[in-house]
Amino acid sequence: MRVFLTNLGCKLNQAELEALSRRFVAAGHTIAGSLDEADLHVVNSCTVTHMAARDSRKVARRGARLYPALKTVLTGCYVAAEPERAAALAGVDLIVSNRDKERLVERVHEAFPAEAPLGGGGPVEIPYVPLEFGNSRALVKIEDGCNMRCSFCIIPATRGSQRSRPADEVIADVRGLADGGFHEVVITGVQISAYRDGEVRLADLVGRLLAETRAPRLRLTSIAPWQFDRRLLGHFRSGRLCRHVHLSLQSGCSDTLERMRRPYSSADFAGLVAELRGAVPGIAITTDVIVGFPGESEAEFERSLAFVEAMGFARVHAFPYSPREGTEAASLPGQIDHGVKRERMKRMLELAERGQADFWSSQRGERVRVLWEQPKRDRWWGTSDNYIRVVRRGPVRPGLQEVRLGRIVDGAVLAEEIAA
Ligand code: SF4
Repeated sequence: MRVFLTNLGCKLNQAELEALSRRFVAAGHTIAGSLDEADLHVVNSCTVTHMAARDSRKVARRGARLYPALKTVLTGCYVAAEPERAAALAGVDLIVSNRDKERLVERVHEAFPAEAPLGGGGPVEIPYVPLEFGNSRALVKIEDGCNMRCSFCIIPATRGSQRSRPADEVIADVRGLADGGFHEVVITGVQISAYRDGEVRLADLVGRLLAETRAPRLRLTSIAPWQFDRRLLGHFRSGRLCRHVHLSLQSGCSDTLERMRRPYSSADFAGLVAELRGAVPGIAITTDVIVGFPGESEAEFERSLAFVEAMGFARVHAFPYSPREGTEAASLPGQIDHGVKRERMKRMLELAERGQADFWSSQRGERVRVLWEQPKRDRWWGTSDNYIRVVRRGPVRPGLQEVRLGRIVDGAVLAEEIAA
């Protein structure tokens, strides 16, 4: 069967989809490059906002409408949040819950036995996709679910309670990817700082990955600000752990944070950021911010805005608050008008853009290692270890290269050759 996979939402969903594509290949199927070449469409859905849920429904229906012979499988957080509606969607042939996602290939074989390859469907050895130029970053999921109850968040309901993969299994995955030629492995999860396999915590796992695999570089994703393990600081000095930490702030106003049930104040957050900057020069700190949370007064928003500005984030993912049924915040008084949210989003996004440009400018003249990812027209685009989008004219050598950061052009920083 030719399988086309569509991802919506976060890096965790993307990591799961990459693992699924390897499972399909291992079971004897092929991955289609586009929907019109496919027999099966797998949609890994998202429900973090109303918009994400709507897009998930749209993507699933659209494939089935355009290609009536196509079979559609819908999985992911939208299925968990609205199972009945998901199952009733026109054109969707099979629903697979998040819990069952690791068995999705087997579920497909059970549902469509005529499509299962002969001998397929049993436990499979998962091959690693060989390196192709421009496809040199892979994502590996290390944990899932969450035990926190932030008042706005649907994740504990859609992904269940927190659980971690065994360290040995993660190490085997990363080793396979590194040996298969991937230059960067991104460690993902809901909150990777919650990782625990017996006594092995995130800092121990990273230490083992650095010691026991040949991954040229590792990148961490979302870390809870109240859970940052200081033992990670030493690993940044290895030169193989990207100087990039994503700390989800959600609001720069402590009163709003309290209503969000986030267990830290803006002062705690600022203290951690200062510590990180002191220990890891040039580190990129990125974040998520929610705008228009219930009860967010003009004064609270101004405090959040000023705090985001003061933090000098390398990138801010800003979202307008979107009530999710079943969460505490959905029934809080003081829901904010759409027009107000739109206006606050505009201000937050402008600030985010300025912050990114300031961070990029602050790094001018620095030597960084860039992973070249994709050519577009006569240019190559890549990402530095400290999360700066970098560009240069081709040709470039595949993989990692040390360059000097120049001026900002066309939404990226110009890479300058380092004289030998
Ligand atoms: S926001 Fe993060 S920490 Fe809070 S409940 Fe959601 S996943 Fe858990």
